[in-house]
Amino acid sequence: MVLSSLISTERVALVTGALLIVLLAKRGYTIIHNQYVASPLTSQQSAATSKPEATELEALETNAPVSVNYFPSRRCNYTCGFCFHTDTSPFILPDDQVKKGLRLLQEAGMRKLNIAGGEPFLNPRLIGRIVKYCKEDLKVESVSIISNGSKIPESWMERYAQYLDILAISCDSFHADTNRSIGRGDGEGNVDRLFKIAEWCKKYDVKFKLNTVINKYNWNEDMTTEIEKLRPFRWKVFQCLIVAGEN
Ligand code: SF4
Repeated sequence: MVLSSLISTERVALVTGALLIVLLAKRGYTIIHNQYVASPLTSQQSAATSKPEATELEALETNAPVSVNYFPSRRCNYTCGFCFHTDTSPFILPDDQVKKGLRLLQEAGMRKLNIAGGEPFLNPRLIGRIVKYCKEDLKVESVSIISNGSKIPESWMERYAQYLDILAISCDSFHADTNRSIGRGDGEGNVDRLFKIAEWCKKYDVKFKLNTVINKYNWNEDMTTEIEKLRPFRWKVFQCLIVAGEN
């Protein structure tokens, strides 16, 4: 992506991130810290959530890797302009080494594993094996996946949802044109798939979460009507950052 475009995207995001916080607060959403994490919580829940969790405090004290983000592959079928996972390395570890790494992390204190990418569901069997191993063998408390939602079949949910606590889907717009401009495929079908996945999460008892990156194409889109219909348990709103040499 052209640098000037990125810079303007970042500036817009900085300003619009603040505006969005005001809008979300007015709509009854709760903003946690400065991460633009918005959840339709009660004030009691909000007070509890806005404090650091006990596990986070323990991690600070002991240096244990309590919450781990794992990127099995950086490959993705989308080309979002702000993304820093641009397939700089398509390498995927063999299963035995994946398991060994996860076991060492669990022994060192890992309680939460989040699988991201790239698009994790370009390797659905691998992802299935990882979530199963983490729940069945390692007894990891929370296992989550972040996906762009374009490659999740219901058959995967049928088989592996029992090993998954949270499924987060990235959604930057509810308009095909905007999704196209951002680099989210041809923009067609994204919204339908999103609602389908939200339904599957209910059906298979997985928490459904949404992630949105504010950028120059979506900064003035009011997404609240659709978000209220989707009712994610949490909606995370990000501003994009420039990572030197990556995006
Ligand atoms: S969907 Fe996610 S991983 Fe794929 S290009 Fe977009 S931001 Fe990057």
